[in-house]
Amino acid sequence: MSAVKPGTLALALGCILSAPVAAWGPVTHQVFACRALDAYDSSCFAAASARSFVLGSSAPDAFKLYLEGGRELHRFDYAAFQLRYAQGNPGTTTENFDAVGYSRAFGTHLAEDAVGHHPDGYLPGGVGATKDHLHEAALDTNQARTFPGLYESQRFAHFGDSVIVFSTAAIRAYGKEKGNALFAKVTREAVAKAMHRFDRLETWEQIASAINIPYRREMVALDPYGPADFNQARANFERASKCSLAAAARWQASMSDLTTSASDARKAVEENVAIMFGQGECQPTSHP
Ligand SMILES: [Zn+2]
Repeated sequence: MSAVKPGTLALALGCILSAPVAAWGPVTHQVFACRALDAYDSSCFAAASARSFVLGSSAPDAFKLYLEGGRELHRFDYAAFQLRYAQGNPGTTTENFDAVGYSRAFGTHLAEDAVGHHPDGYLPGGVGATKDHLHEAALDTNQARTFPGLYESQRFAHFGDSVIVFSTAAIRAYGKEKGNALFAKVTREAVAKAMHRFDRLETWEQIASAINIPYRREMVALDPYGPADFNQARANFERASKCSLAAAARWQASMSDLTTSASDARKAVEENVAIMFGQGECQPTSHP
């Protein structure tokens, strides 16, 4: 890998994102969600159900980064619980917010992270937090700029109280089931605050993205597979994207059987990811 000298603005962005490593950035997760819905254009944001799905695809990082103990919610176990909770409590869905779609996408996020963070994956981690974040930011910039049509970042604030009420209830129910007092007593204010802080992070990222001129160079320099140029970097990203989408679809398919347990759905994804990497589908065939 050649040495990268990130621009000052990009470095600032890296600092904004200097919380624990989040694998794919929020824009990349949300664009994956549109592709999963077969709506890779502005139609992705037309209906409340699709918008809720898109929001859910980036949501796990809000809790991981900003809710006390929230790393435990950035897990397949909670994602499966939340989906069953939404399905069992149809009253949590409102005109503006589809709790089931949101919860489906919440799990797809974790499947996508499993691909990104695979030891042979596109975002192996451990490269150094600042570089990891710069890479995520460069990809987010690329994804927002190349989105066919207008990309509309989905924020918690757009969904009013519904998403706060639902998330608080689901986390409390999960806490009760697992004997986790922190979650069982989580307050609506703490949940709302985590969402607000994540929304604000996305706003900063959007501002930094708008002026992130060297993102193409960064995508080449920070790519773990050492591409020769931007086209190769794009191809590497696209390969990782396809695997992420396949893993995401695997989780959804697995959970569509109502008798599937959280751990079985997780194992199905892990097996699927291992097979795809084993067959060389997610990474370039020959490392330079
Ligand atoms: Zn994540």
